[in-house]
Amino acid sequence: MREQFTLKCTECGEENYIYTKNKKNQPSRVEYKKYCPRERKMTLHREKK
Ligand SMILES: [Zn+2]
Repeated sequence: MREQFTLKCTECGEENYIYTKNKKNQPSRVEYKKYCPRERKMTLHREKK
């Protein structure tokens, strides 16, 4: 079973990415360094519940 999640920029709050993950493999919240188009830089993006 795969579920869809939104990755939200922790600095400006923009929801920039949608991804799917396997809950069994990644039960905890994930954080990724990703490019934020609004700020035009790499920021930390966190999974939104
Ligand atoms: Zn941002």
